Amino acid sequence: NNEELAAKTAAINADTNNPTIFDKIISKEIPSSIVYEDENVLAFRDINPQAPVHVLVIPKFRDGLTELGKAEMRHGEILGQLLYVARIVAEKEGVLDGFRVVINNGVSACQSVYHLHLHVLGGRQLKWPPG
Ligand code: IMP
Repeated sequence: NNEELAAKTAAINADTNNPTIFDKIISKEIPSSIVYEDENVLAFRDINPQAPVHVLVIPKFRDGLTELGKAEMRHGEILGQLLYVARIVAEKEGVLDGFRVVINNGVSACQSVYHLHLHVLGGRQLKWPPG
């Protein structure tokens, strides 16, 4: 249930830095528009969408992954799951033929939430290079 999940999330995510707003989204304390959920991964709509489709894909248990730069070999399984869920989200949202997956890492890449997340963007012509 949600209380158990909140406790587990808090325990595991207390590892490194402070908790983030995503912990409250995972525990459903803060409502979100969920696109996909399983035991390890949550995907929900970005509150400030940059494209018609803009979904965030996050690990429920941060486990040190405040940012991609903190990844270790032991994170391989969850990193693979996140990327696969990005594909599931793209299909569900009808953009499998054209979408982009973005990870902002660190201040100079404008990362604002220090809980690893993939942005899945689509539904319009995306430009390259990004800003
Ligand atoms: P970052 O800038 O790569 O760290 O991305 C963080 C994203 O989280 C931004 O695109 C925000 O719009 C999004 N965000 C922040 N708070 C919420 C929320 O409460 N619900 C949904 N998305 C959020």
